[in-house]
Amino acid sequence: MKQIPCPCCSDTLYELRNISGSHAGWALSKDSTRLRSDRQGYYMKCPHCSKRVVFSTVSTVVGVGFGMAPKQICLECKDSD
Ligand SMILES: [Zn+2]
Repeated sequence: MKQIPCPCCSDTLYELRNISGSHAGWALSKDSTRLRSDRQGYYMKCPHCSKRVVFSTVSTVVGVGFGMAPKQICLECKDSD
């Protein structure tokens, strides 16, 4: 299990678990923060500081994946839940 810290508060934002087998790699753990999207793009709402953590799509050899954007503005997330 790999813990990815929130870029705004350094608390754990989400966890990746290692998958073995033919599709080996890393995947979001079940109880991780959900990746959401709206008109401005993909993001996660940090469960600790409620900041909007921006994600961008990245192309990999196995297809399109998601990565945390290198630059975070750490704005309060306006999502109501
Ligand atoms: Zn945070």
